[in-house]
Amino acid sequence: MQIIRFSQENNECCYGWIFENKVGPLSATPFEPYQRMDAVIPLEKVKLHAPVQPGKIIAVGRNYPAHAEEQDVEVPETPILFLKPSSSVIGMDETILIPPQSKQVDFEGELAVVIGKQGRWIDINKIEDFILGYTIANDVTARDLQRSDNLWTRAKGFDTFCPLGPLIETDLDVSDILITTRVNSEIRQMASTREMVFNIPQLVVYISSIMTLNPGDVILTGTPAGVGSLEAGDIVKIEIEGIGVLRNSVSRDTRQK
Ligand code: ZN
Repeated sequence: MQIIRFSQENNECCYGWIFENKVGPLSATPFEPYQRMDAVIPLEKVKLHAPVQPGKIIAVGRNYPAHAEEQDVEVPETPILFLKPSSSVIGMDETILIPPQSKQVDFEGELAVVIGKQGRWIDINKIEDFILGYTIANDVTARDLQRSDNLWTRAKGFDTFCPLGPLIETDLDVSDILITTRVNSEIRQMASTREMVFNIPQLVVYISSIMTLNPGDVILTGTPAGVGSLEAGDIVKIEIEGIGVLRNSVSRDTRQK
């Protein structure tokens, strides 16, 4: 099933599902018992929001060997984790803002895991029980600040630095699916999730041995090779097989100098 968060005109945002390009509301969030209402609203008539409002976003660094190589760093022996703030989330067609503090803001196309049920010390054989589904993320990064700061919080944490969407796909085998990133229609990243150093079951086991995973939490599973910088006016599209395309424009943040 495909789950979205959407609104119409001035109505409040709510969860919905998609059936044959039509949208129907869910009677509750997908993290509790819900019913699917009839899908009768044309998809093009609704505004899509980020498909989840995460309590926390756990991201994984250097999880594709070719990306570690292009950054001139070693492939890690255990997953490298960092957090992105929930305030960095934007949805489909919202604008990534280049902050005045950075001269190099990069895209990073990534498969994102949406947690469906609370779990700690999750058993590798029971991973499926704790995953609601999968969406697409852009782990936008101020690369110059990532290099100059020892910690990654600033480089990864600006508002608008975590586009998510357009939907959550609940039925998908993600062991070998293609991630493709295009900037202004030019292909910049293309790789299969089978190239990951740590696969999704390993990541869920590892992260849940550290912190409780809560419904709505999101795990960004790392970016393949080919990362590059974004300029004002660019359109960045990340496509993942079986999920769709996450599209965002890029502007300079002129609100504060
Ligand atoms: Zn990343």
